[in-house]
Amino acid sequence: MFLMWIVPLLLIGFAVYAISGNKLVTVLKPVADRTCPQCNQAAQNNWKNCPHCGQAL
Ligand SMILES: [Zn+2]
Repeated sequence: MFLMWIVPLLLIGFAVYAISGNKLVTVLKPVADRTCPQCNQAAQNNWKNCPHCGQAL
């Protein structure tokens, strides 16, 4: 059988693609992934206060 080996190869390839795809999403995710509850401006995760309105984050 010529196609027997291609099935696990495809599964491995898909798993690698899924894992690297998730990593790619994490890498490409913007730093500011949350917003201020007060003024709805983008806020970075390490910000303690909103620079726009001073709301504690
Ligand atoms: Zn704000």
